[in-house]
Amino acid sequence: MIELEQANELIFENANRLGTEERLIENAVGWVLAQDIVSPISVAPFRNSAMDGFAVKSGWLTECSSDNPTAIPIGPTSFAGDPDSHRVTDRQAQKIMTGAQVADGLDAVVPFEDTDYDENEVRFSGPALVGQHIRLPGEDIACGQKLYAGGTTLGRLDIGILATIGLRSVMTYRKPSVLIVGTGDELTNPGEALTGGGIYDSNTFTILSLVAPFCDVAERVTRVPDREDELQTALGASHDVIVTSGGVSAGERDLVVEIAESCGWQRVFHKVRIKPGKPIYFAVRGRQLLFGLPGNPLSTAVTCSLFIIPALKKMAGFSDYRLCPKPITMAPDAIRRSGRKLIWPGFIREEDGRSVGSFAHKKSSAALTALLGTDGLIIQDATDGKSPNVVVQAVPWCQILNP
Ligand code: AMP
Ligand code: MG
Repeated sequence: MIELEQANELIFENANRLGTEERLIENAVGWVLAQDIVSPISVAPFRNSAMDGFAVKSGWLTECSSDNPTAIPIGPTSFAGDPDSHRVTDRQAQKIMTGAQVADGLDAVVPFEDTDYDENEVRFSGPALVGQHIRLPGEDIACGQKLYAGGTTLGRLDIGILATIGLRSVMTYRKPSVLIVGTGDELTNPGEALTGGGIYDSNTFTILSLVAPFCDVAERVTRVPDREDELQTALGASHDVIVTSGGVSAGERDLVVEIAESCGWQRVFHKVRIKPGKPIYFAVRGRQLLFGLPGNPLSTAVTCSLFIIPALKKMAGFSDYRLCPKPITMAPDAIRRSGRKLIWPGFIREEDGRSVGSFAHKKSSAALTALLGTDGLIIQDATDGKSPNVVVQAVPWCQILNP
């Protein structure tokens, strides 16, 4: 049996970043960039109007006021998308719509609402500032400007920015494909009627929802019976990562370890000195990883959070893949006796500038509802309950669950 820290290191040694792939920008939210993004164009690409109005030379209007309006003949009209900036002959105002190119030589746009105009002529009742309502080339983004560094996780706000500079796709790190296998003759799919001795399969759903943001495809198969041939088929899959739940303890039908090793998986470890989750099994086959999680539902949730999510994050190129537990104080009498490192959901509240923790009340690793309303996982060193100075740390759910 190994310690938590050792188990983590062994997993990270074997969980290697996958290759890169080209992804359409609309499918890249939550993926990690495998390239710097440097703008190939200036945005705006050309001088254009920020308003619907008239483009003029500001010098024509220096003397004008409401008492002494300046009238200027109206030249050609320009719309956004017109290919050429219109040539405006001497002392003609360019009727211009937002986004249209401003004619060479003109240096200010006066909005329609600040003018008085008819078909032939526009009258201005005040001066215009040089450059007003004109967007300059490169004003938002300069050609060659670095917008994102490789390693950045793309968020929902980033996709429009990539489109702005004309990128249809970007290079990202590949996310792993994950197969989730629920083992156990007792399992029934939610939505079906329970039969005698049966329970609903919650674990494959727990795992699926926890890993979803960190994998490309996640498939779920439930109720793989505790029989050799069925398990062999499941463990023979070619996904980057296979996660099983159940069947790794000492029961007579706990067959996952034995069958995995008969199908070419090589054991890295079996059993970690933690509670819950002690029987966790980890194996590799080539570049594939196999996590055999214990079946008790809280054990599944805790070990998936502690071991699998960080491994998937590392494979998918996330830089902050390691959990960073922070020391906390425990509320009076909250320390629990445990012969193993205890990793239990709990509450963390801020009190006089320090974080104070307490465990969820439910003490059974079969009770998934221990998770209800909790703030994160609390990690407490093994203790006989009498010794002082028990080290306690906490990791908030947001750090575990968010990309
Ligand atoms: P095992 O690790 O297979 O011995 O299972 C330990 C406990 O977890 C047993 O009570 C199982 O019925 C339960 N269990 C196993 N798999 C699941 C699952 N997919 N969903 C809910 N409970 C499960
Ligand atoms: Mg079982």
